[in-house]
Amino acid sequence: MNDTFASARADILSRLETARARTGRAASATLVAACKTQPDEAIADALAAGQRVFGENRVQEAQGRWGRFATFRPDVELRLIGPLQTNKAAAAVALFDVIETLDRLKLAHAMAEAMQSQARWPRVLVQVNTGEEPQKAGVPPRDLADFLRDTEVQTGLSPVGLMCIPPADEPPGPHFALLAKLAARHGLGQVSMGMSGDYEIAARHGATHVRVGTALFGGRAPQAAISSASPG
Ligand SMILES: *Cc1c(COP(=O)(O)O)cnc(C)c1O
Repeated sequence: MNDTFASARADILSRLETARARTGRAASATLVAACKTQPDEAIADALAAGQRVFGENRVQEAQGRWGRFATFRPDVELRLIGPLQTNKAAAAVALFDVIETLDRLKLAHAMAEAMQSQARWPRVLVQVNTGEEPQKAGVPPRDLADFLRDTEVQTGLSPVGLMCIPPADEPPGPHFALLAKLAARHGLGQVSMGMSGDYEIAARHGATHVRVGTALFGGRAPQAAISSASPG
């Protein structure tokens, strides 16, 4: 057991509380530990420090990890924050409590079908491509209203929130403001935005969930840089 995680976590939680106080919100943003490629020792440290909400990028990696930490699984909220392939929708529905990366109707159909057949109903967020980057996953902001309506009408799924990953080379504030505005417009309660470098900005813009990896865990294996290019 190593208390580096615990002190990093305490620092981030206190910054989230400061952001909450400034915005006058009732609750501070939930800290989601983005744990892709972290070894089991790091997960054990996180659990020992009291961390209970984890973000995973790949279905298969998460299945292995939470198989090994099965005794903790009932107390943990697992959120899929990486891209999801349609052929892994059933496995994702079986494992996750929240799937943050719905971004196309075909996937909504696959998820809804899996939920019906498993009688399991993870909450769903829609990923929004706020920067309209061609290589990035997510529904463009201007298509969001139609996407939400088509998803509900065609599949019965009612997303409860939105997530975004702003362009790496732009200030994130305007993207966070846009995501929060879209969520409010559609009456969606969860707003997942902000990572290690910008979670305080996200919290000030109304994030309900911030996804933090390196600022919590330290580094991670290099092949794991965030990518929309390696579906999980
Ligand atoms: C890895 C990842 C994060 C966390 O990134 P850090 O910069 O390490 O905090 C957040 N969101 C997504 C979707 C990620 O893949």
